[in-house]
Amino acid sequence: MKVTLAGYNIDIETIEAARQAVSEHLMTPETLSAAYARISRSPKTAGELRSEARENVEKARKSNRNIVFEMGHASIAEHAVFNIDLEGMSRFLLEEIQRHRLASYTEKSQRYVRLGDDFLYPEEWSDLKSELKELHDRCSEFYQKLCEADIPGEDARYFLPFTTKTQLGMTINARSAEHLILALASSTLEESRLLATKLHEICGEVTPSLIRYIVPSEYHRRMYSSGINPVITKKDQDFTMYSEFHGGYIRLVNITENPDNTILTANYARNTGVGFEDAKIYIDSLSIDEKASYFSGLTESATIHDRMTVDFEHVVMTWDIVLSAAAFAQLKRHRISSIGHSFLDPNLGFTVPKSISTEFYTECKKLISYSESIYSRFIEENGPVAAAAYALLSGHRRRVMWTLNLREYYHFSRLRQDAHAQWDIRNMANAMTEKLRDMIPVCSQFLGGKSELSSDIEY
Ligand SMILES: Cc1cc2nc3c(=O)[nH]c(=O)nc-3n(C[C@H](O)[C@H](O)[C@H](O)COP(=O)(O)OP(=O)(O)OC[C@H]3O[C@@H](n4cnc5c(N)ncnc54)[C@H](O)[C@@H]3O)c2cc1C
Repeated sequence: MKVTLAGYNIDIETIEAARQAVSEHLMTPETLSAAYARISRSPKTAGELRSEARENVEKARKSNRNIVFEMGHASIAEHAVFNIDLEGMSRFLLEEIQRHRLASYTEKSQRYVRLGDDFLYPEEWSDLKSELKELHDRCSEFYQKLCEADIPGEDARYFLPFTTKTQLGMTINARSAEHLILALASSTLEESRLLATKLHEICGEVTPSLIRYIVPSEYHRRMYSSGINPVITKKDQDFTMYSEFHGGYIRLVNITENPDNTILTANYARNTGVGFEDAKIYIDSLSIDEKASYFSGLTESATIHDRMTVDFEHVVMTWDIVLSAAAFAQLKRHRISSIGHSFLDPNLGFTVPKSISTEFYTECKKLISYSESIYSRFIEENGPVAAAAYALLSGHRRRVMWTLNLREYYHFSRLRQDAHAQWDIRNMANAMTEKLRDMIPVCSQFLGGKSELSSDIEY
């Protein structure tokens, strides 16, 4: 066996220093993509192929263009990876960026970092700039007042608008970066389109042969536009079908039939090789106690840090959720699931943290109502376009359609039912798990946060 480290990402300042010693044209990951692209057809070793690519970078680029864009093997662009600092952009734009799941993100925590004095003035709001400024002043003042009254920053931020500036560290490969640039360029938001241009400038310069299709078509514009549905939802929604939690509503729309039997059948079939039908006959014949004992056998040596087995992926569920923008900011990070979110909608209500005592209620209501009034005025003057939502606050809500399998739900439950999790998403996770325990009495037994399941964990 031979294992060779062929490259890794390093800080740009180190790369700049190395530029003095190495020829400029070699400072690209395109040679790695070109070499790996040839692995499938060439008898040469990977090391030889990399060496050839470095000797003739222009040829490597030509090969990439041919393989990625003519032959369609776009996956080779995944071998080139960028680390990108994104600073001074709005919370709104951050949500748009993180719709792209095949990347790694670390965001400034609004739970721990004091915010509230740096806001974006989007181009679209130039006619209502003074109204937006007033919103910023009011939000900032209220946020500071709450912090001074010892309300935790994680709760005070529910009253900050989507124009709040923040920053993000992003690691993304060239294939995903091209997709991200295309999506941002298709957006109706000026801020998104500006970011698309900047990303293209910096990534395109390093990997010109891997980032090419970035001009949106009409289809892309429709697909990525996050406009506002002109059919405004009814003010008094009937949420009787939903389970309520402090922070929003959840409803289990559907789940794989007979989830316990499905998981145990998948496991039995996989471990015995008897085939699905025979495995099903066996599992169906078990009593509930026998199934529980089968499940205990599966999990007895697992710790809370272990993930569930692949068998849990055969149970798929869909949730209809109404939650605050603050909670959604956390939910969206669970990439191994399908998250369809719609626009923020003031008609879905506002999540006021429990820590906000009655003395702040009048001010809190006035602020929410001012935010909604300039949001409505923007729509009256510009139509139902996405940029209106810059004026909404983190406590405003949106509707989300969330589809995931039980293995990923276990992971979500471990992190979000934990004592360290933020209360809004923890409340939602607790409500979901309660529902799942009814539907999946056997295989849901190990659900729960890390802290809940073990008293001796050190953080
Ligand atoms: C208490 C708490 C505090 C947090 N604070 C912050 C914060 O301050 N800032 C911040 O930005 N985020 C924060 N997060 C979010 C956190 O960093 C994760 O993004 C989030 O919990 C989703 O977890 P995940 O990436 O494991 O899940 P998923 O994206 O759903 O992934 C599930 C699993 O798939 C695998 N996986 C997915 N993608 C990759 C990949 N690219 N490479 C390798 N493995 C992969 C991993 O095993 C992962 O556990 C916080 C989360 C919690 C619970």
